[in-house]
Amino acid sequence: MRHRIVLFLAPALAWAAAACSRGAAPAPPQAATTGASPMIQKTDEEWRKTLTPEQYRVLREKGTERPWSGEYVETKDPGVYRCAGCGQELFASETKFDSGCGWPSFYQPSDSKSVTMQTDRSHGMVRSEVLCSRCGGHLGHVFDDGPKPTGLRYCINSAALKMEKR
Ligand code: FE
Repeated sequence: MRHRIVLFLAPALAWAAAACSRGAAPAPPQAATTGASPMIQKTDEEWRKTLTPEQYRVLREKGTERPWSGEYVETKDPGVYRCAGCGQELFASETKFDSGCGWPSFYQPSDSKSVTMQTDRSHGMVRSEVLCSRCGGHLGHVFDDGPKPTGLRYCINSAALKMEKR
């Protein structure tokens, strides 16, 4: 009788173990690195004067805008996306793609030096946070489920960006 119970339970246990590993947070797609100190350093008071409340919440307090709520989610116009905090060019429209996630998504930055990554362990997940290398502003996160040629998805808050049309 006992072996029947074991036989019955084994697939369920195997499924549970597999489901558990599927549910685990994926490792960050790149070795998480913290860039050098940002070149632009301002006090909170100075940032509050130059940013809108939503830009401040995202860039300086690592906030996340609601999915599908941002200005650039579905933008397809040619141009460049600059940091809303300091104006540094971050992404080009040619690398923007429809990810279906509700946030502007790019498969690579304009220049690898324009963004820095650091490990984010908040909300019970391990993610790679993306920051502007010039002002240290929080932009979003990068995941390893993007399209070719990089396989990466830079999931970026619209509030952290300012688009400049060509
Ligand atoms: Fe910046």
